[in-house]
Amino acid sequence: MYPQGNNAQLNFSGLGCWLTVIGFAWLLGALGLGWLVKSIAVLLVLLLVAPVIGFLGFRWWLNRNLIEGACPVCQTSLTGLNKMRTVCPNCQTPLQVTLEGFQRDVPEGTVEVDAVDITDDTRDATVVSVEVLPPVEEDR
Ligand SMILES: [Zn+2]
Repeated sequence: MYPQGNNAQLNFSGLGCWLTVIGFAWLLGALGLGWLVKSIAVLLVLLLVAPVIGFLGFRWWLNRNLIEGACPVCQTSLTGLNKMRTVCPNCQTPLQVTLEGFQRDVPEGTVEVDAVDITDDTRDATVVSVEVLPPVEEDR
């Protein structure tokens, strides 16, 4: 049964493994244990199919959750997974990935403001207008 002859240890690598499996299956079939062979065959098929289904499922999940977008601060194009927290590699802004794209990851209760400098030529003075930004929507 073993090609190595006096090697008593089972060789579970490569061709030897398959020869052992086939030989074992044939032996069980000869002993009238075909049902066992069939259940093992079903198990083997499941073992072979499971990674394929897992891979396809992962691909489907990745297609749904892989978000491509731009950093809202510096417009660097980014790729991330949905609901993931990340940091922009360009401007170090903490970001939250949503299905709509990238949003700034701001702690709750923070009021975001955007200061815009407007130079008023007639009065020769700088008027600063402060715009309150809408809070980041979080779907928790
Ligand atoms: Zn950025």
